[in-house]
Amino acid sequence: LVSRKKQAEDTVIEIKGVQIGGNRSFMVAGPCSVESREQLREVGRALKEEGVPMLRGGAFKPRTSPYDFQGLGVKGLKLMREVADEFGLLAVSEIVDPATIGIAADYLDVIQIGARNMQNFELLKAAGESKVPVLLKRGLAATMEEWLHAAEYVVSRGNTQVILVERGIRSYEKWTRNTLDISAVPLIKQESHLPVLVDVSHATGRKDILLPCAKAALAAGADGVMVEVHPNPPTALSDADQQIDIPQFRKLYREIRDSGLFK
Ligand code: PEP
Ligand code: MN
Repeated sequence: LVSRKKQAEDTVIEIKGVQIGGNRSFMVAGPCSVESREQLREVGRALKEEGVPMLRGGAFKPRTSPYDFQGLGVKGLKLMREVADEFGLLAVSEIVDPATIGIAADYLDVIQIGARNMQNFELLKAAGESKVPVLLKRGLAATMEEWLHAAEYVVSRGNTQVILVERGIRSYEKWTRNTLDISAVPLIKQESHLPVLVDVSHATGRKDILLPCAKAALAAGADGVMVEVHPNPPTALSDADQQIDIPQFRKLYREIRDSGLFK
């Protein structure tokens, strides 16, 4: 169902008047984790001022270490809704448990399925039963085929609104957190009609090469870019090293927008 052979035209997802895929580039930004109302409001205000339509923020955090900050849970989802509504933004947050998909629909415009859960088939099935669009990240070591099969799990259950996100894959290279597989973008666009975004923050784990990676993504045919933004990155409870601050975000977004690659 996700194949171009089944549907030749690009899938265009429209949420409250915001378009993802098709002839317009898209941007989603926000903190790795929701930490407080004030933290989220600072980011939300900047997004609104810059014209970025979707706020991201993790409430259920799938952390590598059990001793790291696990997220605010439902309280975080509530804050996402509250701040997104205050600034007229869309809200996306990760869901890690099939049982939580239902309540997510009360607070979110888009459900994120993270890299670590790309092959959590029960979660994929639950997301497929939902009416909320799904942002499906590529697994840490997932092949293109495995990734598309994961999308197929969601779409085959009736939820056709799936957005794929390339976020880098594991390699031996240590200068970046993951290796941005730029070839995944034109390959997915060739094989599938679903929209594709590139998460430059998790792909690189750095702040200094976000602009060239975002440009490369758009040049390769990506429908948009995801970036992590925090009002005070050194104090962030997760992904402190890769999150950019608000002035850096404003500069990055303007440079992407004015690059001639952002449609
Ligand atoms: C995230 O978006 O904060 C996240 C945990 O991403 P990923 O699943 O791609 O690692
Ligand atoms: Mn993160």
